[in-house]
Amino acid sequence: MRNTDIIATPPSKDNISLIVVPRPFITPVQKTYDYVFQPVFLELKKKGQDFPLTIIYCSGSMDWVGYGIEVAWKVLGDDMYAGEKKTENQRVVMYHSSIEKGDEVKKIIYTNLSTNLSESPLKIVIATIALGMGADLRHVSQVIHAGPPKSMEAYIQQTGRAGRDGTQATAVLFWNKSDIGRPDVTQAVKDYCRNCDNCRRSLIDSYFGFGSASSDKNVPICCDICDSNLKNDWSFTPPLNSLQIHAIRTAIQSFVKIQKIQISSMCVESLASNASYYVNAENILKEFKLSETIANALSSTISQLLEIQISK
Ligand SMILES: [Zn+2]
Repeated sequence: MRNTDIIATPPSKDNISLIVVPRPFITPVQKTYDYVFQPVFLELKKKGQDFPLTIIYCSGSMDWVGYGIEVAWKVLGDDMYAGEKKTENQRVVMYHSSIEKGDEVKKIIYTNLSTNLSESPLKIVIATIALGMGADLRHVSQVIHAGPPKSMEAYIQQTGRAGRDGTQATAVLFWNKSDIGRPDVTQAVKDYCRNCDNCRRSLIDSYFGFGSASSDKNVPICCDICDSNLKNDWSFTPPLNSLQIHAIRTAIQSFVKIQKIQISSMCVESLASNASYYVNAENILKEFKLSETIANALSSTISQLLEIQISK
């Protein structure tokens, strides 16, 4: 072939800000995933319909996809549904290869994904690598990697699911030292995770042979290296361990007793397990039938308990 121009664009899209955050290395390993899942689902509980359409990738592992949905049910409770309790109203769904083979759930997911954002109840898809082919993902504005993908190629393909409508989008990758010790994760991904000096966009562009293409551009919200503030929203408080939850539960129980509050032991359990959510009195009022005065007192008690436990 002669006179053929090859037009190639750098793989990192300008409207996706790239953020990488270390996950704490704690046992059991579920806790390191709680670090990502819990705050994200709590945010969904708070924002409801206003939550941005998000894909959470679990680097191909069915186990973590299943665990993610389990945490979603626990954190969201009845808020798992927008309105009537039926599958098409579910806020969080999982997507994996068996769903890809086609069934009713897949149809519901695809319909919801292509529905107008303000009307679709679906806000989070927890997926293995399967999601993407054939799905209309125009409205996705956040891609979260709960753990690192295996290759830079997979990373670019999966983060590229965000921001397809041209609006500003976010890609957040969580990792810890156990993840990057995995033999199936490439050296390039390990280096990308550990990097704390070089612009992430430049790293990606040079990995794919685009030299310093990105440094010539003026990307407005580039990455957490170019602007360290971008990390703030994603650096969460480590999840409470069972001893900490137990201490908070005991303290709430005695508060409830002293204040003579009518509240079931199941509600006390929920207050203790999701303590960070109930630091906000409005969330207590939303979930429990309590007066404003009691909700305020309860939220400030929970806030103090949480502070004591975290600083321990
Ligand atoms: Zn940058």
